[in-house]
Amino acid sequence: MEPSGERTRRSYRLRKLWSGNNRIRLMLTLALAVMLPAAALIYLNFYHLKSIERDKVLEGAILGDFHQMLAISEKQINQKAYKMTEEARALFPSPAADSQSDIAKKLDDILSKRPWFAHVYLFDAKEGFVLRSQPERLSDPHFREEHQRVAKMLGGWFAMEAKGMLDQAHARARGIIWYPELLKSADGFGFRTSALFSLPQLAKERVALGGLSFDPDYLKQTFFPSMLKELIAYKLGEEGGNPLAMIVHHADSDSHPSGGHAEGFIAASSGWTEGEPEVSRNLDDVFRGLALGIKFQGTSVADQVRGWVHNSFLILGIFSLLLVGGLVLTYRSVSKEVALARLKSDFVSNVSHELRTPLALIRLYAETLELGRIKGEAKVEEYYRIIRTESERLTALINNILDFSRIEAGRKEYDFRQTDLAELVSNTLDTYRAQIHEHGFTLEQSIDWTIPAVQVDREAIARSLVNLVNNALKYSDTEKFLCVKLYRADGVLKLEVVDHGIGIARNEQSKVFEKFYRAGNPLVHNTKGSGLGLSLVRHIAHAHGGEVEVESTPGKGSKFTLTLPLVSAIQQPANDAVRMAG
Ligand code: ADP
Repeated sequence: MEPSGERTRRSYRLRKLWSGNNRIRLMLTLALAVMLPAAALIYLNFYHLKSIERDKVLEGAILGDFHQMLAISEKQINQKAYKMTEEARALFPSPAADSQSDIAKKLDDILSKRPWFAHVYLFDAKEGFVLRSQPERLSDPHFREEHQRVAKMLGGWFAMEAKGMLDQAHARARGIIWYPELLKSADGFGFRTSALFSLPQLAKERVALGGLSFDPDYLKQTFFPSMLKELIAYKLGEEGGNPLAMIVHHADSDSHPSGGHAEGFIAASSGWTEGEPEVSRNLDDVFRGLALGIKFQGTSVADQVRGWVHNSFLILGIFSLLLVGGLVLTYRSVSKEVALARLKSDFVSNVSHELRTPLALIRLYAETLELGRIKGEAKVEEYYRIIRTESERLTALINNILDFSRIEAGRKEYDFRQTDLAELVSNTLDTYRAQIHEHGFTLEQSIDWTIPAVQVDREAIARSLVNLVNNALKYSDTEKFLCVKLYRADGVLKLEVVDHGIGIARNEQSKVFEKFYRAGNPLVHNTKGSGLGLSLVRHIAHAHGGEVEVESTPGKGSKFTLTLPLVSAIQQPANDAVRMAG
C-alpha cells in the first residue's frame, strides 16, 4: 500500500499546480462552462434553421394552412347558399292547397323581397309548371328571352324527369340538388347556380318540385365579394399575421388572374393584386365548376419564408457576435483580475524584500557603531549617512504604501497651497543631489525661475519628483545620466525627468502607470520596487488637473513628463478623493 504521506504530498503538488495556473484554469472554465454550451446552442439553432430552409417546413405549414382555410371557406360559402335557398323554400306555395294564381302570387312575393334570385318555379305532376322571374327585369329583352328559354326547357324537362329528380332530391340530406352553370358572355365570365328541391310540406309520393336560380350578377358582384371579405376578416381576426387575398374563378380555365380580370375571373377580395393563387381548391356541389384561390397580399409564401429565415439567421448571427464579444470581455476582465492578483502577491514579496534590506543595513551599521570599533571620523560619518539614507528610503517606501492605501480607500486628501514650483523642485533635487552623484549619475538641471506661483500640494509634487528621479536611478545601467527640467509651455507647466537608462517597451508604456505593474525586463526584476510609484504619480497629476506621460525607447532611455495647469484650475476638485484642505 502507498504510504499516506506520499499520497498527501502528491495531491498537494497537484493542487499547487492547479492553483498556480490561474490562466489555464480560467480558460478551461470559460471553455467548458460557457463556450461549449453556447457553441452547441448556436450550432443547433443554425442546423435547425438550415433544415427548416432545406426541407421547406415552413412553406409546407403555410400551404397546409391555406388548404384548410379553403376547405372551411367552401363549407361556409355553401352553407350560405343553402340557407338562402332553404329560407325561400319555406315560403313556397303548396300545389295541394293553393290555386294556380295563388302559387304565382306567392312565388312573386318571394322574388320581390329577394332580388338575388332571378327565377323561382314550381312543378307539380298534376297541376303543371309555374315559372316566375324578377318582374321589373322582364322589361330587359335579354332577360325576357332567358325567361322564355328557361320556361321552355324546364317545362319539358320536368315532364320527363320529375320523378327521377324528386328521388334524387329525397336522397340528399337537405333535399336540394344543385345545377351549376358556367357562363361566358361578351362582358366577361359569369356563373349561375340553380337549386331544385322537394317540398317538405307535401306528401312524399306527390311528384312536385320547387326550384330557384341565383342571379349571376348578384353572385359575381355581391355574393362572392362579400363572402371573401368575411372569410378573410374572420381568418385575420382569429390568427392575425399577414393579410390574405382570395379569388373565385372558373375551375378549368387555366386562369392567370393578373389584376383580377383575366381568363375565368369571377370575383376577388379587395387585397388581390396579381399573380397566381398559392393554393386553389375546386368547389363542389353548389358551386361546382368554380375554384377558390388564396395567397398573401402583396407577397408570396416563398418570399415570406425567405424573409423569416433571413431574419432568423441575422438574429442568430448577432446573438453569436454578442456572445463572442461577451466572452472576450469576460476573459479580459477576469484575466485582468488574475493578473492583478498575481501582481498583488508579487507586490507583497517585493515590499517585504524592500523593507528588509534597508532595515538589515540600518541594523548592521547601528550595531557596528554601537560597538564603538570604528576608526576615523570619516568612517563614522559615512555609517551615519548610510543609516540616514536607508531610513529615508524606508520612509519613502512607506509613504508610497500609505498614500496608495489612502487612494484605494478614497481617503487621500490634498493640501493645495500657493507654491513656487521652481523652488520646490530645486529644493527636492538638492536633498537628492548627493545620492544622485554617489550613484555615479550626471545631473543636468534646467529650471525656469520666472514661472508664477501655482496651487499645488507640495508634498505630493515633491513625492512625484522623488519617484520619477528614483526610477531614473534604478532603471539605468551603463549610461548614468539624469536631467530634470521645469518650464512653461502653452499655458501649462512641465516637469520633465529624463534618463538614458534601459527604457520601456512600447506595449508596456501605458501599463507602467497601473498599480503593481512592473515591466517584464529582467533588470527590473533584479531591482527592488513595489510597482506603486508611477500609479501614485498619475493619481497626483490627475488630482492637480494635469497628466503624466512617458516617451521611451528601449535601450536608449525614458522621458517622463508631468504636466500641470498654470492657472490654478484646482478650484473644483476633479476627484472625490481630492479635497481642499486648510
Ligand atoms: P517600481 O519602480 O517600484 O517597480 P513604479 O510604479 O515606479 O514601480 O514603476 C513601474 C515600472 O515602470 C517599473 O517596474 C519599471 O518597469 C518601469 N519604469 C519606471 N520608470 C522607469 C524608467 N525611468 N526607465 C525604465 N523603466 C521604468
